[in-house]
Amino acid sequence: MPSLLSSEAVETGITPGGTTGAFRDVLSKHHAHRRKPPVHFTDMSDGEREEALKELGYPKFRASQLARHYFSHCTTDVAGYSDFPQDQAGTVKQRFFPDLITPLLEQTADNGATIKTLWQLFDGSRIESVLMKYPTRTTLCISSQVGCGMGCPFCATGQLGLTRNMSAGEILEQVRYAAAQARDGALGEPARLSNIVFMGMGEALGNYNAMLKTIRQISALPPHGFGISARNITVSTVGIVPGIKKLMNEHIPVRLAVSLHAPSDKLRDELVPMNKRFNTTQVLDAAHDYYMATKRRVSIEYALMKGINDQAGHARLLAKRLNHYGDDWVHVNPIPLNPIEGSRWTASKPEDEARFLDILHNAGIAATLRDTRGSDIDGACGQLAARVKDSGVLCTVQ
Ligand code: SF4
Repeated sequence: MPSLLSSEAVETGITPGGTTGAFRDVLSKHHAHRRKPPVHFTDMSDGEREEALKELGYPKFRASQLARHYFSHCTTDVAGYSDFPQDQAGTVKQRFFPDLITPLLEQTADNGATIKTLWQLFDGSRIESVLMKYPTRTTLCISSQVGCGMGCPFCATGQLGLTRNMSAGEILEQVRYAAAQARDGALGEPARLSNIVFMGMGEALGNYNAMLKTIRQISALPPHGFGISARNITVSTVGIVPGIKKLMNEHIPVRLAVSLHAPSDKLRDELVPMNKRFNTTQVLDAAHDYYMATKRRVSIEYALMKGINDQAGHARLLAKRLNHYGDDWVHVNPIPLNPIEGSRWTASKPEDEARFLDILHNAGIAATLRDTRGSDIDGACGQLAARVKDSGVLCTVQ
C-alpha cells in the first residue's frame, strides 16, 4: 500500500481550541498524518458549492438541483439527472460526488430485517454500517471514525485502534446508500429510513465537527438534507464530557446515549479506559445536564458481561446512582455482550440479565433489554471489519 503520509494541513476534527485541551488524548497520534478524503458535495458550504459550480461555468441555482437529487432521490448518477446539463456530467460527478465509500461485503440476518455492510474508503480503510427494520421504524447504525481509540477491552472495534476520523461526506454516504436501499425494498418491502444512531465504529464526539455537519444534513428538510428528524438521531459517546456539553449548547434535540457499562469507577476504569479521564460522576453529571437542557431522556448503554458487571450488586448501585439525579431522566439499555471470538469477555446468563432488569425496574428506572440484531453475522461493531482484516477475505457485493 502506498504511504499515506502527506504534507497537507491536518484535519483534527476537533472543535475550536485545536489539539490542546480536553480532546487531545481522544485522538491517535497516527491520525493527524492521514490523507484527507476527497471533498464531497456534503462537505461544502452553500457558498463553496456555488463557487465550484461557477468554476465549471454553471449558475448558482444548479446547486439546489444537485442537492435535490442527492438528498431527495439519493442518487449521485449525474448522467441520469434529466434536468441537469449533460455536457460535463462526468466532471460534475467527480467534482461533487466522488465515490467515497464502496461496499465490500453485505451480510443479512434476522430474516432479512438486518443488513450489515462492510465499506472500503478511499484509502483502503474499512468501516461498517447496519440497517435494521423494526415494526415502527427503520434504523441505520453508522460509523464516524475508522476504528476507535477508546480501547475498551471487550470491544472488537477497540481492538482495531483508531486509524482516522471520517469526513462528513463519508459518514453521510452511509445514510444515502441505506435510505436508497430501504426505499427500494432491500429489507423485504419498501421502507423509509427514519432513525440514525451513531453507534457504529468510533467515538462520535471525538470527530465533533464532521458529526455536527452530518447531523445538520441528516435532519434538514429536503432539498437541504434527508429530512430525518433530529429527535430520531442518537449520538452515542463513551463519556467525553466537554463534547457532551458542546453538543448540549448546539440546541439540537438529538438523543444522547452514554456507554456506561459499569456503575463504579473501580470497575469502569477497567472496562472503559476513558473513565480515568472523565469518571462516572463527571459523565453522569454531564448526562443529567444534557437531559435538563434538552428534556430528552438520556440512554445509558450497558453491555452485560458474564460475572463482570451483571450481578445484583452492580444493578443496585447503578439504580442508586441514576436515582440520585431524580426520576424519569434516563432509560437504561442493557445489552447482552456480543463476544469477540476467543475473548475472556462473554455474554451474561439469561437469568442474570433478567435479574439485572428486575432490580432496575423495582428501583423505578426505565430499562429495556436491547435486542442483539445480527448476532449471527459478526453483529458487534467492528467484528466484521476485524474478521475481514485478519483473514484478508474480500467479497465483492454484486
Ligand atoms: S465500546 Fe465504543 S468507545 Fe469503546 S472501543 Fe468500542 S467503539 Fe470505542
